[in-house]
Amino acid sequence: MAETGEPSIEGFRCADCGAIMIDQPMACRACTSRTPPQAFRVGERGRIVTWSTVLRSFPGVKTPFVSAIVDLDDGLTLKGTVRGVDPESLGVGLPVSLVFDDAGGARAPDGAPYVGFHFVKAGAAE
Ligand SMILES: [Zn+2]
Repeated sequence: MAETGEPSIEGFRCADCGAIMIDQPMACRACTSRTPPQAFRVGERGRIVTWSTVLRSFPGVKTPFVSAIVDLDDGLTLKGTVRGVDPESLGVGLPVSLVFDDAGGARAPDGAPYVGFHFVKAGAAE
């Protein structure tokens, strides 16, 4: 969550080799540089690498739904649900957009709302 209150995904980029990481290691995992990778706001566009239609899940989780691995244009890879799509219309390389949501209304023990995310086809309104 950014200081503006707007949700976003934060990645870390090595200043020496450009490698992208989801967390900030003490040294770059690609080139072993000890210069701490710097945080950046990851863009919300990506492409589907692979997906699966989930037919059975935990009690209370509505099925079926589509779970996908998405390579974001900025270099990170995320797994998430793709909403509002016919699974038959999906394909490798399909452009998708990251959308933040309220995690199904889930709240922390102190009542603070959680932030979740899912994907939609790029250009789809949701
Ligand atoms: Zn590096």
